[in-house]
Amino acid sequence: MLGSGSAGNSALIATDHCRVLVDGGLSARQIALRLEQSGVRPEQLDGVLLTHEHGDHVCGLEVLCRKFDIPIYANALTAEAVRSDCSLDRHRNWRIFRTGAEFSICDITVQTFPVPHDAVNPVGFAFYAGAGSLGFITDLGYATKLIVERLRPVQTLVIETNHDEKLLQNDIHRPWPVKQRIQSRHGHLSNAAAAGVVEELLSGKIERVVLGHLSRDCNRPELALQTVRSTLTKCGRVDVETHCATQFEITPQFRIGDTYAGAFQPTFDNALFQNAV
Ligand SMILES: [Zn+2]
Ligand SMILES: [Zn+2]
Repeated sequence: MLGSGSAGNSALIATDHCRVLVDGGLSARQIALRLEQSGVRPEQLDGVLLTHEHGDHVCGLEVLCRKFDIPIYANALTAEAVRSDCSLDRHRNWRIFRTGAEFSICDITVQTFPVPHDAVNPVGFAFYAGAGSLGFITDLGYATKLIVERLRPVQTLVIETNHDEKLLQNDIHRPWPVKQRIQSRHGHLSNAAAAGVVEELLSGKIERVVLGHLSRDCNRPELALQTVRSTLTKCGRVDVETHCATQFEITPQFRIGDTYAGAFQPTFDNALFQNAV
């Protein structure tokens, strides 16, 4: 995770053959800097995948993609929203997918699925490469049955623990409608809600949970970790690793599984995409 929180989100997923970002919500400078700390140059990126159009997920893209002609993967509504909002309308390198579609970028297979959040067409991802699998859900009001099904086979899960319910209720700076929005079915997962999702996935393949998208004022890493860890303890699953990503620095690199040795066959299927208009 290059950085994660209410003020900006971006994560790097890499195999021996391929490097993609999920979201570009830090400044382009910070993305480049943190990529460098991870041993990757921006020009080596094979794409940026967008979950949705909110500023904390896309604000660095304009500069990053102007400097480096990186393909942007998004569904049509998200692409349109981002293009109408900034000078990315000049960006030519869009790869438009249908929400629900599965496609490949080099040797990474990407599954997309809808998530409930107050954006035009927000998505979550499940990634498969070699023997490794990774689920990625940030910015969602609750986990639908479909989301849980899609995530059951993944070993590592990135999930938002946006707020602590008590801290949000007691927050004096947020007006009531904003609190309502955050807590709604199209808002954000609380620590307790995320722990509930993790509990549902314990019958699957989960081995590691990385918490992210913490609210600056209404959460703290130790609270989020404590909530998820006590659920794991209750379920007798202290073997599941837990980590918490933060806003200002990169997390350690998580090794998710081995890429199969030898040359890979590019499986990118252009037929899945139509050109953005
Ligand atoms: Zn967000
Ligand atoms: Zn959002």
